[in-house]
Amino acid sequence: MNKLCINVFCGFEFEELCRMAKEIGFDGIFSDESDAVNTDKILQNRIIADRYSLYYETSHSKIKGCEDIWSDTYTAAEYEKELKLCIDNCAVNHIGILVVHIQTGNNKVNIDCGMKSLQNIINYAGRKNVKIAFENINNSSLLYYVMDNFRSPSVGFCYDSGHELCHTPGENFLDRLGDRLICTHLHDNDGSADQHCMMYTKAVNFSRIASQLKELKYTGGLSLELAYSGTGIKKREFLSRAYEGLKKFYSEIAG
Ligand SMILES: [Zn+2]
Repeated sequence: MNKLCINVFCGFEFEELCRMAKEIGFDGIFSDESDAVNTDKILQNRIIADRYSLYYETSHSKIKGCEDIWSDTYTAAEYEKELKLCIDNCAVNHIGILVVHIQTGNNKVNIDCGMKSLQNIINYAGRKNVKIAFENINNSSLLYYVMDNFRSPSVGFCYDSGHELCHTPGENFLDRLGDRLICTHLHDNDGSADQHCMMYTKAVNFSRIASQLKELKYTGGLSLELAYSGTGIKKREFLSRAYEGLKKFYSEIAG
């Protein structure tokens, strides 16, 4: 059975999010990229999640620098070190999945360097019993290349519904990588930017996604990844509406 999870960035303290999410009915949470390299913060998050009996689904790795993995500069080694720290923080706190962006910036992509760093990271994660979930961002062909070349059981796919629409319109990642799916980021946008809105409020076709997940018999987490600031909605109301959207989505998968 899919666990219904949530993370909200901009506007909620982790404790506040866990307390309200539990009251509303969510099964779990995940922590965002600003926490991943902070050993004390992940430990505190774990304690808070346990206090509210919430499943700690994933840790989102630090985003800043993720495109540097495709360079042969000093920054690639630095980012590799940071990802290993993210993995350590997951392992110590029994968080099974680290989500990692496969993103390219403006620099030239050096495939050999990037793949070597990723191999090191995957090997490290395997030793620590943490899975790496590569997430779709702005470069589908690079993501496919990485997924095709790393078939280790330590590697899976994190499907992001909002990124698919605004960064790679027309792409269907679940068609191509659905059999590798281990976690999801569910949010909406109007196609013009990565807005992280509630489900069913903008242009993402969640009925299509639900029927694909049903077809795949996906049993992993269904996780909202939302932005709160600027919505003008009271926090509890915001989480309640978010939960209703996710339950509707879940009923389409389970029904
Ligand atoms: Zn995401």
